[in-house]
Order: sequence, then C-alpha cells, then structure tokens
Amino acid sequence: MIIDAHFHVGDFRGPGLEGRVPMTWENQLRRLDEEGIDRAIFLPVYNASPEGAPLPMIYREGHGLREQILAARSHADRIIPFGNMDPRWGTNSPETDFFPLLDWFQEMGCRGVGEVTANIPFDDERNVNMFRQLGERGLLVTVESCGFGPGHYGYQDEPGLPHLERLLELCPKTIVIGHGPGFWANIAPVAAPEDMNRYPKGPVAEGGAVPRLLRQFPNLYADLSAGSGWNALTRDRAFGIRFLVEFQDKLLFGTDVCFADAQGRMPQLGYLKALLQERQLPAAAYEKIVAGNACRLLGL
Ligand SMILES: [Zn+2]
Repeated sequence: MIIDAHFHVGDFRGPGLEGRVPMTWENQLRRLDEEGIDRAIFLPVYNASPEGAPLPMIYREGHGLREQILAARSHADRIIPFGNMDPRWGTNSPETDFFPLLDWFQEMGCRGVGEVTANIPFDDERNVNMFRQLGERGLLVTVESCGFGPGHYGYQDEPGLPHLERLLELCPKTIVIGHGPGFWANIAPVAAPEDMNRYPKGPVAEGGAVPRLLRQFPNLYADLSAGSGWNALTRDRAFGIRFLVEFQDKLLFGTDVCFADAQGRMPQLGYLKALLQERQLPAAAYEKIVAGNACRLLGL
C-alpha cells in the first residue's frame, strides 16, 4: 500500500507558468496508476485564503472549494478529500464558530483540512481558535509555511519556528502536518530570515527546529512533499536518512503534484524505494512513511 498525502487538481498556470499542462482528475488518476500509488489525499487549494489565490486561477472553472470537494467524492474508492479554510473566515476574530463548516466537511467525507495558506503567524489567536475546533473534531490540518512578513503565502514564522511551537502547545489535540519552505528550511538551524522563503542548501551539522519539534510534540507530523520537502531530505543525504529513520512514525510520503507534465512529477517515492533497496531505510520505516502513518492518522 502506498498513499500520496498531498496532491492537487486544477489549472495552476499563471505568470511564469504559462507553458505548463493543467492537472485534471483523469491525469491525476493516471499518474497514481503509473507511480503505483494506491490512495491519495486530495487538498483543495487556491481559494480559501487571498494570498493563495493567484489571479488567473480563481476565475477558472473547477476551483471553487465546494466543487473541488464534490469532484473528489466521486473518486471515493481511492481519494481521501480534505476541506480547506482560513482562520479569518466568519467574524475574522478569535470567536468564530467553525463547527457548521466542519460539519459539512465531515458529511462530505473530509478527514482534514489543507493545505491552509493563511499568511498570518501560526499562533495568531484567530488561528488558535480554528485549530482548537479542528482538534475537537479529530480533523488533521496540513499547513503551508513561509517567513515572517507579507509577500509570500502560507503561515508566517521566524527562524526556529517559535510561532508554530506556541500553536502546538496551545492546541495539543490538533494534529498538524508541517509542509512548505518555512517549515522545511528548519530541518537545520536557519541562518537568515530570507532562507524561510527558499530552499537552503548545504550539509546539516546539527538538526534545527523541525527535528526538535517532531521529538517534542506528539501532535506534529510532516509531509515530505514538494521541492521544499525534497530539498530538506536530500541537501545532506546522510542526515536525511538518519532523519527518516528517527522520525519514521511522524513522516508522510507526499508529492504535491499539481501539473500533468513530466516536469510536474516528483522524485520522493523513487528515492524512498531506492533507500529501501540499498538497505539504508529499514522496511518497517519505509512502510510507515509511504502508508502506515497516513493510515493510522486517517483511521483507514
Ligand atoms: Zn500543495
């Protein structure tokens, strides 16, 4: 069994991405077949938060949150849908009651929400309110992340992830799945605030906030998807392998595939399979990372 914990469907062409091939359900299901992936978590995106809605996308067909979730439901044998939301919805205050929305997500079969891209600090009190309600319902939350200040999308944090740490402390019942450049830059100590918005390279002499928080907080997990996850895992191959082994109970294989062209494919699964074959990754760790942890969190 292999589960991709992070993929999208839609037409995400925009400035600089004009030549890419949009991702349809048909293309995405074919990709899962070709890669030998049995099930996958669908994340509806680019419409929940203003920062996550680059302009050409929101007036293209198929990007409404409701229609994305309904489309995912028609592939329920294979696809696990998540909802999506923004902590500023409702009353844009720490008082918003999200339960009616969570009721609908759960009626639709959603097991979580994400990726949430709200460009506010992780521990903003509106976000703490939303995450507590997600935790009450047992809904997982996948988070996009970046550095502090505007100009990027995803939750804001500083080197060392103090805002994520406070959120994890305040919402112990909420399972948070870390993702994105701001999160993964912290696999090692982050030298400069700008590194939170890019893929820092180079050897990892000592682990940063990501391994520290994964050790400290039972409610923190991480998906290995996207260029950010790939960079964190491979910038120092030996460290990456030790990281996979130590956190084999907290990591989820994912791709973040959102274009149908060859350039859109991700190398994570092939890499994990190679590590298994080379006996650098024990079989039990491999199985947990590619499926077991997701099965446990999703109650499959
Ligand atoms: Zn994504």
